[in-house]
Amino acid sequence: MLDRTLTMYPYQAPLRDMRFVLHEVLHTADHYAAIGRDDVTVDLMDSALEECAKFAQEVVAPTNAPGDIVGVRWQDGEVITPPGFKAAYERFVADGWASICGPTEYGGQGLPEGFGGPIGELLVTANMSWKMYSGLTDSAILALQVHAPQWIRDLYLPKLVSGEWTGTMCLTEAQAGTDLGILRTRAEVAGDGTWRISGTKIFITSGEHDLTGNIVHMVLARLPDAPPGTRGISLFLVPKFLPDAAGNPGARNGVSCGRIEEKMGIHGSATCVMNFSDATGWLIGQPHQGLKCMFTMMNHARLWVGLQGLAQSERAFQGALAYARERRQGRAARGPASPDKPADALIEHADIRRMLMTQKALVEGARVLNYFAGLQMDRAAHHPDETERRKGADLLAILTPVVKAFLTDSALEVTSLGIQVHGGHGYIRETGVEQYLRDARIAAIYEGTNGVQAADLLGRKVLGSGGQLARLLGGLIGAFCQRHAGYEELADFVPRLTGLLKEWSEMTERLAARIARDPDELGAAAVDYLNFTGYLCYAWCWAKMAAVASTALQRGTTERAFYEAKLTTARFFYQRLLPRAEAHLDATGGGAADVMKLTPDQFAF
Ligand SMILES: Cc1cc2nc3c(=O)[nH]c(=O)nc-3n(C[C@H](O)[C@H](O)[C@H](O)COP(=O)(O)OP(=O)(O)OC[C@H]3O[C@@H](n4cnc5c(N)ncnc54)[C@H](O)[C@@H]3O)c2cc1C
Repeated sequence: MLDRTLTMYPYQAPLRDMRFVLHEVLHTADHYAAIGRDDVTVDLMDSALEECAKFAQEVVAPTNAPGDIVGVRWQDGEVITPPGFKAAYERFVADGWASICGPTEYGGQGLPEGFGGPIGELLVTANMSWKMYSGLTDSAILALQVHAPQWIRDLYLPKLVSGEWTGTMCLTEAQAGTDLGILRTRAEVAGDGTWRISGTKIFITSGEHDLTGNIVHMVLARLPDAPPGTRGISLFLVPKFLPDAAGNPGARNGVSCGRIEEKMGIHGSATCVMNFSDATGWLIGQPHQGLKCMFTMMNHARLWVGLQGLAQSERAFQGALAYARERRQGRAARGPASPDKPADALIEHADIRRMLMTQKALVEGARVLNYFAGLQMDRAAHHPDETERRKGADLLAILTPVVKAFLTDSALEVTSLGIQVHGGHGYIRETGVEQYLRDARIAAIYEGTNGVQAADLLGRKVLGSGGQLARLLGGLIGAFCQRHAGYEELADFVPRLTGLLKEWSEMTERLAARIARDPDELGAAAVDYLNFTGYLCYAWCWAKMAAVASTALQRGTTERAFYEAKLTTARFFYQRLLPRAEAHLDATGGGAADVMKLTPDQFAF
């Protein structure tokens, strides 16, 4: 059964493109120098990426197919991860990849948080399910750093930072998914400074597994005197094993895995029902402020989920490209490309090119936007200038829902195209490309569905800030347009981007006025608004890439093929994909009236 690994595509880390984005487009080293981290040089980043790429390609990627085929198993409350997961995890910890961006005061190597994006991309692309066991640990570390008392930080963070223990996020209950205000898990005072947590959480990623000696659950629960709704939720830390004073796992706590879910994808990731039965927990943050604390974790995790979209897209693109170069069917329209062969390679056909170019344009645009958003985390946390910190936080706030939703929605298109390029050979399991679509599908759902992200962008971030966050993002894009307005070689991009920005501002104002009159207008317009914003951001990213590429070409670069491909892809994005933005703009013009008009009975007869 595992023979499928032999026919699957190996993972090739796209290091040249990652370096292009980090060094040439985003000038990451300058950014780090501005926050006092001039030790994070181009050379340091490159050597970390190269080493991590080797680990991802050689150790992690081979576990991807077994993870999908064998999947995770549940036996008597214990979860058994797929073949190879444990060995790869042990290497991940021993070689220091788990702690690469962890805080130095707790044993981490202290590389900036934003650099966790490119490193994470390599590992998630190699095997998304495997990376999920450590994915939420980074978010838990952040939440504990910000909200936990000192003694908890001292006891738990060294183990979480090293990767010796992993973390979870326990929010969802059967009746409470998007609506956390109706969650029922209870927390009773124990009298010794701890709390007794009881209730059942569902869909908990990595709630139970065999990779580490302890699991630290971050659990939302209600205190006995809690007000109803989201204002009555508190956050608790509940370990699987209660650590002794030296930090070693001691007595088993009252938390257990009731079962794991059968799923469409990410078969190697354990999605657990977790039963808390008088489990000992510690309050993190203030009583009734749990959702606020959890948002520290969720915002971080949302960028990670965006990264999952990029990762699955990259993998699907690599598979489609390899197949299109190899598989021979039909003749090229302009005459045989390989007259000595019975047929030409698929890549000679314009429709196959359309699909590959779409994949390439969406993948490379996603990489720039994701890394750019990651940089704002460090700017917000560490820039010496308060105004810059504020700007970083505000940009991160407006970009997080865009990165989470736009990258994961476009991953569904890119991974589906990956199957389409393979024809029937993509739909059957042998080539492994259908796994990318199945794995990518969840990313549009968890960490707040993409509908929730859209409402967050338009409702909370744009309108909730009185338009200030939109003006900040628009100002950044507008400043780019002004700086590059007179350049003839960018004439295909800058005027169009300038026009798009104007349309975005006008649409935002129109929607603000309509939403003030009818609250349903927000839900009716939000997804189209987010998609328009996504295309605007990608257009900005592609114009930035085009500017770098045309400068390199003018300067007589020795890598002409690389930069010419960038310029051509930028043009493809503007000509073939950007027109979709106008359709989203038009759709918002339709308003909420017809969306809401039918009674529930009128939907089907
Ligand atoms: C594989 C997997 C892993 C997961 N991992 C975790 C985890 O680690 N921790 C955790 O706590 N949870 C986890 N989840 C749960 C996940 O976050 C939820 O499934 C998600 O938040 C949606 O909740 P729900 O499934 O109850 O859907 P619902 O909330 O019932 O939503 C159903 C639909 O209605 C829409 N909707 C709901 N409310 C509104 C509204 N007010 N306005 C407009 N539309 C609305 C939603 O967008 C969605 O389209 C995981 C889920 C899965 C499947």
